[in-house]
Amino acid sequence: MEKVGAVFGGSRGIGKAVAQLMAQKGYRLAIAGRNLEAAKAVARDLGENHLALKCDVAKEEDVQKAFEEMETNLGPVNFLVNAAGINRDGLLLRTKTEDMVSQLHTNLLGSMLTCKAALRNMIQQQGGSIVNIGSVVGLKGNSGQCVYSASKGGLVGFSRSLAKEVARKKIRVNVIAPGFIHTDMTKDMKEEQLKKNIPLGRFGEPSDVAHAVIFLLETPYVTGHVLIVDGGLQLVM
Ligand code: NDP
Repeated sequence: MEKVGAVFGGSRGIGKAVAQLMAQKGYRLAIAGRNLEAAKAVARDLGENHLALKCDVAKEEDVQKAFEEMETNLGPVNFLVNAAGINRDGLLLRTKTEDMVSQLHTNLLGSMLTCKAALRNMIQQQGGSIVNIGSVVGLKGNSGQCVYSASKGGLVGFSRSLAKEVARKKIRVNVIAPGFIHTDMTKDMKEEQLKKNIPLGRFGEPSDVAHAVIFLLETPYVTGHVLIVDGGLQLVM
């Protein structure tokens, strides 16, 4: 089976590192994000035969169009990674409804839409593998991140349910739950203070997560799993 992958949120951070490692391992890829120029730059750096797409995962019409373009240019997608995500941190009492909606739509609805769009071909091909990027705070909770945590906790319930729904079709669905990773999302955090609480003593790198994503994408007898990649943070949360 040719390895055709889609990385939503592949234009920066964790998704970009995932795309780089997948390309090294011989996948033909679509890199999708809202910023087409950033996605194009990643696709170009990966080498030939990769595709860049403009797609807001919170918009069903964008997701449908992205899958049509992928099918036309790359063939059916059998490996899907959902790394698109945003955070709007703050105490619940101070969180605007529009920030609740945008987090839920990007982090949770977005993955539901891409999974749904990918399934048709995966079912036809009798196989596929999906990795959704959650977060350790979706499992443990975190003050100041009620809505973000809910979106990531919801992603676990969604992914495990979908794993049950499609296992007979040989489609696997797994989740990675990262801790603090060096990306744009964490650049304003108080790293020196926060890393004192991490048993391994450092923030992770996007490549740390990418290796775990490849493991879940390619390990044939694992589904419905949540793999925590956090330097041991969940041990002390
Ligand atoms: P970045 O902010 O570095 O990157 C976010 C990526 O998501 C970008 O490629 C961005 O591209 C894309 N994106 C955001 N909104 C949308 C949207 N509506 N539609 C399509 N793409 C979108 O974040 P990270 O790399 O750190 O985060 C990747 C994932 O990992 C997220 O789901 C995040 O919640 C999760 N995570 C991150 C942690 C960390 O410490 N960094 C910890 C735990 C989980 P563009 O702007 O072009 O749309």
